[in-house]
Amino acid sequence: FDQRDGFIWKDGEMVPWKDAKLHVLTHGLHYGSCVFEGERAYNGVIYKSHQHAERFRKSAELLDFEIPYSVQEIEAAKKLTIAKNNLTNCYVRPVAWRGSEMMAVAAQNAKIHMAIAVWDWPSMFDIATKMKGIRLDIAEYRRPDPACAPCASKAAGLYMICTISKHRAERRGYADAMMLDWQGRVAECTGANIMFVKDGEIHTPIADCFLNGLTRQTVIGLAKDKGIKVNERRIMPEELAGFDECFVVGTGAEVTPVSEIGPYRFTPGAISRTLVEAYAAEVQPKVHA
Ligand code: PMP
Repeated sequence: FDQRDGFIWKDGEMVPWKDAKLHVLTHGLHYGSCVFEGERAYNGVIYKSHQHAERFRKSAELLDFEIPYSVQEIEAAKKLTIAKNNLTNCYVRPVAWRGSEMMAVAAQNAKIHMAIAVWDWPSMFDIATKMKGIRLDIAEYRRPDPACAPCASKAAGLYMICTISKHRAERRGYADAMMLDWQGRVAECTGANIMFVKDGEIHTPIADCFLNGLTRQTVIGLAKDKGIKVNERRIMPEELAGFDECFVVGTGAEVTPVSEIGPYRFTPGAISRTLVEAYAAEVQPKVHA
């Protein structure tokens, strides 16, 4: 991924993609002092750019460091990077980390760096394929107790167990893994939140120990607008047997129906379809008359 053409915004400058490098003694690499964002631009406009920039700064604050750019500056830099790379439908990856000026657990004087990379990611909307649903494994690792980690931060360190779980799921032929939380309740997937449908109502775990995704919040709003009741509550894995539909929601996943989680089966149906379509319409830039 590092040998591409194009430009990456790094500490306020546009650098050629291949030259956007770090020193091996970067604190963020050794100690996980790093936060990032995952965003998508549709037809040249980042969906919820402002909210992503706010979450980015908040993620760093939760790790006790401050990103040296304001929300407005971050938004401008993202726009500039998309324009510089001539992209319209793309993924946007801001990242911020403690640098290599100090090498120990304590790194108060290490500089805070920031970069933004963008890459082509066309939105392929094929409802028939989506409605087949993806298959999920159940991960061995659980989301940690909020007393053990800053779980509302999109912190790189919290993704260690996600990568392990995703790799194990793929090795076993699944698309992804559903993770439980520290108390054994249903939590989320390795890079997306999860929702279930029963008797025409949505049931989704309370985001109290994992990321309350922007897509999760958007989809809850879209469902309510359509008169679909949303129940945010504790969900035990045994309950999966009684759910009709299931789908995952996230910036990358958008709304993706699920057909299978371990021993449980679901049939993507009317509510999944309604929300797949509503979300696809929602992310398109609004045309102001
Ligand atoms: N949970 C995890 C672990 C994620 O990585 C993501 C993707 N950022 C989400 C949930 C969904 O968040 P969002 O809808 O803001 O992309």
